[in-house]
Amino acid sequence: MTQSSAQDNRLAADTLRVREYIAAVPQKPERDQAQDQVYRHAIKGLLKERKATLVAHYYTDPAIQALAEETNGIVADSLEMARFGRDCDADVLMVAGVRFMGETASILSPDKTVLMPTTEATCSLDIACPIDEFSAFCDQHPDRVVVVYANTSAAVKARADWVVTSSIALDVIEHLQDQGKKILWAPDRHLGHYIQHKTGADMILWDAACIVHEEFKAKGLMDMKTLYPDAKVLAHPESPASVLAMADVIGSTSQLINAAVELPDKTFIVATDQGIFYKMQQQAPDKTLIVAPTAGNDASCRSCASCPWMGMNSLQALYESLRDGSNRIQVERDLAAQAMVPLQRMLDFSRERQLAVKGKA
Ligand code: SF4
Repeated sequence: MTQSSAQDNRLAADTLRVREYIAAVPQKPERDQAQDQVYRHAIKGLLKERKATLVAHYYTDPAIQALAEETNGIVADSLEMARFGRDCDADVLMVAGVRFMGETASILSPDKTVLMPTTEATCSLDIACPIDEFSAFCDQHPDRVVVVYANTSAAVKARADWVVTSSIALDVIEHLQDQGKKILWAPDRHLGHYIQHKTGADMILWDAACIVHEEFKAKGLMDMKTLYPDAKVLAHPESPASVLAMADVIGSTSQLINAAVELPDKTFIVATDQGIFYKMQQQAPDKTLIVAPTAGNDASCRSCASCPWMGMNSLQALYESLRDGSNRIQVERDLAAQAMVPLQRMLDFSRERQLAVKGKA
């Protein structure tokens, strides 16, 4: 076999593998459009009646994102959701996302009623960072500044010196490094490694990961690049280092959307939750967006680029919560006041630096 026909065969095999992967990406079940329409109409009525605003995360069901836009709510990252909720003129905030987002909204808007479609929706980073163990870890390292990611419980935030989102994390760590500080970082180890690698800061890391981003595979990405050689790779820094090493752009949800809009390239392979495609495609309608490969549609694939907890936010659950005033999130006042300190530190830092704090969940 000649060298060129061997290459052709390998390319054909890679192409087949990538096509099989794309075919295996789980499709959402067929929607009941008529039923959706009934819920949409009822939710719009209830939002008005309750003087409520819908704030939705980029990873939620596109039907919920569209509804937030149509009703003058917002589709955003977790911090922007909370800030929008704080600043809007509503009595009730309906937060479609995961639990820590409802908590952050409650901390920033203590005088508003915060509801969620479900209080069962959590996050692997939040689960893997229980307050008692985390607090003991902090106690073992009293010489370190405690910096936690937004994807944590109110109690963990309250134990921290700083809360950061993914887009401001590098700036905050560089700022602390300039002051000669040593850092304790939690909970996402991939994001922590990425920041450590970029800044060279003295950091010790809590060992947790996002189950969605951890599934992205460098080998699969390499195969996919053979099929789409001109595509640029956009990756969220919660992805493994081997995937980030192949990325053309690494950034938070908002930064990845901006990259898809602003870069002249036509095709992007995107390593973050598929929910982002709604907003990304809306903002960049002429671009082709492809989901980055995960472990595949088998027993080892726990996410397939789709957060199971974000997926719990359905139109029906949202409607029922608004109708009944159920699934209320209320962070106890003292705890909220403590958690507000590191959150406010980040907001002040951002304002002083005139940075756009557009992080990710
Ligand atoms: S996508 Fe990952 S980080 Fe975001 S809520 Fe789901 S598990 Fe948590």
